[in-house]
Amino acid sequence: MNRRVYLDHNATAPLLDAARDAMQAALSRPAGNPSSPHAFGHQSRMELERSRRDVAALFAAPSHEVVFTSGGTEADNLAIQGSARAWTAAGRPPGHIVASAVEHPAVMESCHYLETVGWRFTLLPVDGAGRVDPAELARALSADTALVSIMAANNETGVLQPLAQIAALTRAAGVPLHVDAVQAAGRGVIEAGALGADLISISSHKIGGPTGIGALWVRETTPLAPVLRGGGQERRRRAGTEPVLLAAGFAAAARSVFVSAGRVAGRVAALRDRMEQELLLRLPGLIVQGAGAARLGNTSSLTVPGVGNETLVIRMDLAGFAISTGSACSTGATRPSHVLAAMGVRRAEAASTIRISLGPSNTDEEIDALVETLPAIAADLSRGAILSRSSRPALPSLPQGLRPSRRPRLVP
Ligand code: PLP
Repeated sequence: MNRRVYLDHNATAPLLDAARDAMQAALSRPAGNPSSPHAFGHQSRMELERSRRDVAALFAAPSHEVVFTSGGTEADNLAIQGSARAWTAAGRPPGHIVASAVEHPAVMESCHYLETVGWRFTLLPVDGAGRVDPAELARALSADTALVSIMAANNETGVLQPLAQIAALTRAAGVPLHVDAVQAAGRGVIEAGALGADLISISSHKIGGPTGIGALWVRETTPLAPVLRGGGQERRRRAGTEPVLLAAGFAAAARSVFVSAGRVAGRVAALRDRMEQELLLRLPGLIVQGAGAARLGNTSSLTVPGVGNETLVIRMDLAGFAISTGSACSTGATRPSHVLAAMGVRRAEAASTIRISLGPSNTDEEIDALVETLPAIAADLSRGAILSRSSRPALPSLPQGLRPSRRPRLVP
């Protein structure tokens, strides 16, 4: 097989034709600032609000509850810091915030930031499959809890959280619930009422729209103060001239996944399941992380014992397959991803964990090729490890510029 195979959809999804066409059409129209009072501005405002309606349909929510942001990271920051600011703006001292131990850094770092300005932060543990125990959440809630933030689906393992039970608890306690649905959106409809959440983050580039735009759905009654201050755009919730062009692409992607998500998710899940089954047969000792839990149908977090994940990812890339590691490293030393560490995965196993994330364009032929190639490369690498342990010559070294990185890196 000569072409390259893209299996890193959780990092970013390829731009959909519908999104490209929508942006090209928007580019060919005269553009005004949506806040301008003239006809150009009016035209842009109409386009922006049309896009907002299409994105809101993903949440089955009224469009005025959707705030456009620059992406999932900003949506998470706005949800957490905006909720905290609304809390203190009501004359209360800094309160308490709760998040799970497997959240994306966009959530985690926002919570740690709040700690530096006087907030209390409870990090909820997860079980071996990466799930929060709702009973732990019930114990963590207190009279000054201002927000609970739990993701819908994990970016590294695809594991889904028990959101219905979590939402029942937060509703009963009168505490707003933020759900980072960046990975779940477009892989089954995110319906605001069904999730029972009060704030939901999504990101355009994870559903086949352009990068640089995302959205936060905010229930009308949920208190939120702006983080970005300036003009009064987005109903005073996020200042800055709105990106009409990107919104057109985001909306087109949202329309596509809204129509096809269920059907596509079923086909992708069947491919993923077959891939895992065949790899389990061919790779002795292979571990599928989170296998015991409900998971996104497109994601596989695979531990190949005894094989370094960074080298494996590079060798797979050289063989034409784009996959990713399941661990982040910091200067000087590889450390396990915080997600796998929270699940109790041992350091050595985490350093042997890769992530394969499929998308709608992947084919049976591509998966056939992957299940041939991955075990062959893994066997080659473990032979190399045994040889170098017995101080024999190592396998041919990697080409210059393709050595494992030692820079800090996150798993997107
Ligand atoms: N939340 C999750 C679960 C993610 O996987 C990501 C990106 O990988 C983000 C938030 C951040 O989204 P963005 O890349 O749009 O800033």
